[in-house]
Amino acid sequence: MARKRILITGAAGFLGSHLCDRFIKEDFDVIAMDNLITGDLRNIEHLFPLENFEFHHHDVSKFVYVSGNVDYILHFASPASPIDYLKIPIQTLKVGSLGIHNLLGLARSKKSRLLIASTSEVYGDPTVNPQPEEYWGNVNPVGPRGVYDEAKRFQEAMTMAYHTFHGLETRIVRIFNTYGPRMRLNDGRVLPAFIGQALRGEDLTVFGDGSQTRSFCYVDDLVEGIYRLLFSDYSQPMNIGNPDEITIREFGEEIIKLTGTKQKMVFKELPTDDPKQRRPDITKARKILNWEPKVGRAEGLKITYEYFKSLPEKEINHKDF
Ligand code: NAD
Ligand code: UDP
Repeated sequence: MARKRILITGAAGFLGSHLCDRFIKEDFDVIAMDNLITGDLRNIEHLFPLENFEFHHHDVSKFVYVSGNVDYILHFASPASPIDYLKIPIQTLKVGSLGIHNLLGLARSKKSRLLIASTSEVYGDPTVNPQPEEYWGNVNPVGPRGVYDEAKRFQEAMTMAYHTFHGLETRIVRIFNTYGPRMRLNDGRVLPAFIGQALRGEDLTVFGDGSQTRSFCYVDDLVEGIYRLLFSDYSQPMNIGNPDEITIREFGEEIIKLTGTKQKMVFKELPTDDPKQRRPDITKARKILNWEPKVGRAEGLKITYEYFKSLPEKEINHKDF
């Protein structure tokens, strides 16, 4: 039987590369697309020799062409870390708007099922905790994070419109903070920031007083949730994340313990509009996908720390963003 073909955008990034691995393992033909603006070909170079893997160096905010049939599309292209999207705000808005429009057009012409990577950031600085999918959010459209949050909200609206008006098969996953190997050590997100600082013998920079919370999901759990959502018949947005909520200060203490660093936490100014709390309500994922996270933070952090430790020293010491 012919293999199913899947297009994965943002394939050279952290999540996209793990999705490539999963769909190769499931014996799909994988078409990986990326413009490498925040990604790294090293994340997928092990797949290049495979006959069921192809790479297209392309910016999806420009017209997207793929020859032949495409059964599924996963749209993961977008800067994802605050320092990335603050540095390239216009590209972030474009990939969430022009990019999704191109991919929806492609999905329509190929009759593909399209899944988009949305985010817990659609809830902004939430006033309810945990956040269920029905919560509409509390987003500042013109604040610094608005370029990301509003792009993702537009992307959801556009996807739902194609679903409703064109009958396109669509899926929307709202991803909460996810971590694991292949994150960029200098991407500014809290986990690589803290581990990088510990490895370099620097103090850990906690923003604000560290009382803000996040809930960290290990990448393998996320990939499993996305896999189940894609093959479910559920077209409304679905939260996927780990509900184990922790303050950033406690998280810093865990990293200090894990790495054995002698350094301490130092407190810096809290970025504008930094959400005070974040925790997914995963009732729907449990019920509809029979999914819940399996990897606890202690285990996931250990694997991730080993990955970062194994990087070449010059990469660990390279701090430029
Ligand atoms: P990442 O930066 O590692 O990967 C994003 C990839 O998209 C990169 O390889 C980048 O080069 C590529 N890209 C960006 N703009 C592009 C464009 N115009 N054309 C083609 N490729 C482009 O980030 P990630 O953490 O892997 O995030 C992947 C997706 O998941 C993003 O859409 C992000 O918004 C979403 N997400 C991630 C998290 C998380 O915790 N990691 C949480 C919520 C949502
Ligand atoms: N954070 C921090 N120190 C850092 C980087 C981030 O205290 O060096 C904080 C940040 O202000 C936020 C939390 O950690 O409250 C998570 O930040 P991250 O950028 O990882 O993700 P997001 O804010 O998008 O959830």
